[in-house]
Amino acid sequence: MQIQVKNLYKTYRNTLGGIEREVLRGLNLQVGSGEKIAVTGPSGSGKTTLLNLIGTLDKPDKGEIHIGNLSLSDMKADQILSFRNRTAGFVFQLHHLLPQCTLLENVLLPTLPLKGDKTGFNDRAKDLLKLMGIWEQRDNKPGELSGGECQRAAVARALINQPRILLADEPTGSLDAKNADLLIDLLSSINKEMGITLLIATHAKSVSSRMDLVYGITEGKLALQKA
Ligand code: ADP
Ligand code: MG
Repeated sequence: MQIQVKNLYKTYRNTLGGIEREVLRGLNLQVGSGEKIAVTGPSGSGKTTLLNLIGTLDKPDKGEIHIGNLSLSDMKADQILSFRNRTAGFVFQLHHLLPQCTLLENVLLPTLPLKGDKTGFNDRAKDLLKLMGIWEQRDNKPGELSGGECQRAAVARALINQPRILLADEPTGSLDAKNADLLIDLLSSINKEMGITLLIATHAKSVSSRMDLVYGITEGKLALQKA
């Protein structure tokens, strides 16, 4: 699914101190269906802000975001919920798995609000845990596993409802180099094999260099970076 961002503005206002932080200033972005794209830039440049707006976790002050042929600003509350649970998958720097649930239970969590065939969900969870190399650990809780294993479970959870776009915010930010490489291998093959559009925010050159295109945020806008 393609992503089109037009003339996006976002300012954070501190109502107490009256301090304003104009983070996005007329930002444009086009991501073609099935592409894998990095948004890079130093800490505080607005990467998370952009991903949150595309993921409907926050609203822009101005501008348009289209996902496929749907305009996010036209979506009603129930469409937004469905978008977050089904159309988009999210991966964050910290895995945010529930500590009291096993890996398998964590992966199945997004299916709980859905009607449908439990066997189908279980089969898909099994395939994804195998793909991520953590099927053997399915009955373990996050606290019993490594950071890399937990992050791979978080990717499986993000994919369980077969999203068409995957938004990953510093997904390797808390991993060592080896686990970071493995995670990017897996995200790349998911992008290729499943045709899921991949948008990664990262300040790691080792991550951005493996994407099709790299955009840098400067002064609230994106500029295509040379390979
Ligand atoms: P990045 O992900 O590139 O590090 P962010 O998008 O998180 O950048 O933040 C961009 C800027 O906006 C930073 O200066 C940050 O302090 C500010 N900011 C982010 N979220 C908020 C918020 N909820 N309220 C106020 N300021 C914020
Ligand atoms: Mg960030």
